[in-house]
Amino acid sequence: MSQLRLNALTGRWVAIATDRASRPGDFAPRLEAEPLPRHCPFCPGHEEDTPPALESYGRDGHWLVRVVPNRYPAFEGQGAFEVEQVGPVFQQAPGTGIHEVLIFTPDHDASWADLDDREAGLALAAIRDRLEEHAEHGSIRYTQTIVNHGREAGASLEHPHGQLLGIPFVPEELQAELDTFAAAEALGGPEPCVLCATLDAEIDAGLRVIHADDRVVVVCPFWSATPYEMLVIPRHHEPHLADAAPPDLVSVGRALRDVLASLVGLLGDGAYNVVFHTAPHNSDEPFHWHVHVLPRLTSVAGFEAGTGVLINIVAPEQAAEDLRDAQDLLTERPA
Ligand SMILES: [Zn+2]
Ligand SMILES: [Zn+2]
Ligand SMILES: [Zn+2]
Repeated sequence: MSQLRLNALTGRWVAIATDRASRPGDFAPRLEAEPLPRHCPFCPGHEEDTPPALESYGRDGHWLVRVVPNRYPAFEGQGAFEVEQVGPVFQQAPGTGIHEVLIFTPDHDASWADLDDREAGLALAAIRDRLEEHAEHGSIRYTQTIVNHGREAGASLEHPHGQLLGIPFVPEELQAELDTFAAAEALGGPEPCVLCATLDAEIDAGLRVIHADDRVVVVCPFWSATPYEMLVIPRHHEPHLADAAPPDLVSVGRALRDVLASLVGLLGDGAYNVVFHTAPHNSDEPFHWHVHVLPRLTSVAGFEAGTGVLINIVAPEQAAEDLRDAQDLLTERPA
């Protein structure tokens, strides 16, 4: 089992998960050019290579989306978040939780950008169903859903997939957002939700909007810290992704597909992370669920590592214009 250790300097938790070092990878070490061809455990016909599915969606006996337990979990097992003092500045806790793999297409060579409407909707429905299930576990406070695309973004297997990590504490990044929502609500004002306010302000400004339909808006946010960063905001205010209306989930899945296709059209098939943020399980704190898309075009250097201040070399206004142009080219292209 992995172990959580508290960084006494920053107050942030670190997970030590040495078992994950033994997991197989499609990607050769960084300096070797070509990935080796290998047997893919996520392809149709290889279902026996993964633990039995937790969820499976499809029709006519063929799955389109599958959720399976991760064979090399970073977090595993039941148990309360019991912090133990093991030295004057050493605190640790067992790394309990759930770690699952979301295989969101049977197509080994596809990506989220290639999903059809049905798959894009099913992927979000699968995330919703798993979040509902995770919320039943008393020891899991929060579930982080992610998609890592490309080696530079942390993917170890080529077959497109996401991950759901249910963890026994609320992580710092999410807590920072929760604090902002709480502070905005405490201030009162006509729009107590900071993300509803952002949505309105970005639509008014117009400059950074790359997708807007009646259920979801995608922008390159005013405060973008990395080039071509995107923020997917459902119009309907809802703290928990698991409580979102099915049409909102479907729209977010498709909007994500469309903007990722624009990103690929613009920059080629580069690495990116997709990060789903939703309120902690069973929490009634103010929040508004959303999705971050973080292309990995640059690496974090010393200044960023030392300060947490990221230097973005592409203004979000330019990024949005480039992405809109790429989208136009895609839609003009004959089918
Ligand atoms: Zn595969
Ligand atoms: Zn809101
Ligand atoms: Zn967020």
